[in-house]
Amino acid sequence: MSLDDRVAGISCREVLAQLGDYQDGGLAANARAALEAHVGACANCAAFGGAYGGLVARLRERLTPRDLDAERAARLAARLAQDE
Ligand SMILES: [Zn+2]
Repeated sequence: MSLDDRVAGISCREVLAQLGDYQDGGLAANARAALEAHVGACANCAAFGGAYGGLVARLRERLTPRDLDAERAARLAARLAQDE
């Protein structure tokens, strides 16, 4: 477990370096997506604790609802209804 472990193509160290820009909305879309994918999947980032850990937790909370948008939720509900 180190800051140089790579998850979703970027390391924790790179995530830390980009976090300020991320919060300011200053990251390009692909960099933002990589950062979100990393934080969503990285055990290191969840374990850092402190202010950073809190930020990771908030980021994950914000990311979760987007994983299941209304359209996908409707498709899922329709498929579940079919199976019954
Ligand atoms: Zn990480």
